[in-house]
Amino acid sequence: MSLCLICTHPAQQPRTACVRCGDRLRGWLAEIPRQLVLLAASLELGSRPAQGYGGAGRAHSPLPVRGDVLNLLGPAAAGTVRDTARDQTGPAPVHATLHAWADQLAEDLGHRLAPINPRAPYADYLARHLDHIVRSPWVALLHAELADVVRRIRAITSTEPRRRAMDAPCPSCTAFALGHTDWQTYVDCEACGLLLTPAEYAEHRVRVMPALVEIGILMVAAQHREAS
Ligand SMILES: [Zn+2]
Ligand SMILES: [Zn+2]
Repeated sequence: MSLCLICTHPAQQPRTACVRCGDRLRGWLAEIPRQLVLLAASLELGSRPAQGYGGAGRAHSPLPVRGDVLNLLGPAAAGTVRDTARDQTGPAPVHATLHAWADQLAEDLGHRLAPINPRAPYADYLARHLDHIVRSPWVALLHAELADVVRRIRAITSTEPRRRAMDAPCPSCTAFALGHTDWQTYVDCEACGLLLTPAEYAEHRVRVMPALVEIGILMVAAQHREAS
């Protein structure tokens, strides 16, 4: 047993990230390309009316597009966006972040990195080799940078993966805290961190739910008797 470099919970050797953290990474890598579509759609200024019109009080004409979105999409975005004017400010854009980690991964694996696809910039390449990533010494750094990228994108697109609560209690800690979040592989327990595949959850549910429903009916019946 070793410790997960991201959450410090136990991780099976030779893993450097636990299954739960690896699953979170996989979810983000699936989410980013979908979010990029929304991000590109919110590039034009008119997509946020609260900004108002005319840019009152500015000494020069404002950019025709949103600066915060442009910074995230970065110079590798489809079209003619280039950083020649050095007007990129703030943290590294999405494409640059993914490119840098894909480059690191390719070096580890001895691959030649394919040219960037602006619509899915290396997210699929990273996801395909997640087994290597969760055994690498740099997994925590990648996790931190992706967490930052995802947080900034979600703040602009106002789109977050949904979490659906599961009705059966956790088989490990018995809390009613099992749920499934979009783009994640596993059903997880928010209380104890247990992960179940959808098939394992379905099997568990079939086992426990009939008894639980029966107890529920008995409780309701008892309340009725007390009330009458
Ligand atoms: Zn972890
Ligand atoms: Zn649990």
